[in-house]
Amino acid sequence: MPTKLEILRSLDSVVCPACGLVKKRRHTLCKDCFALLPRRTQCQLYEPMGPVYFDAVSEAMLNLGKAQFWITTPVPGCLHAVSARSAT
Ligand SMILES: [Zn+2]
Repeated sequence: MPTKLEILRSLDSVVCPACGLVKKRRHTLCKDCFALLPRRTQCQLYEPMGPVYFDAVSEAMLNLGKAQFWITTPVPGCLHAVSARSAT
């Protein structure tokens, strides 16, 4: 499951950690992945940064059946490539 640092980096990126497609910066997941979560987990993802929130992110990944946690590197080319992928 993702570390706190990975979760923080993911929050600051525009790549959904679950599916690898585009999400909004400062959002945990993209809209599609978020919609698939149980209501309880969705609510916990709105908690302030802390144990409940970090647990909720791990739980969300489990719920979505994702073993891989996508993170972007701060390379402009990579972000561009991800944006292009979402357009298709
Ligand atoms: Zn997603």
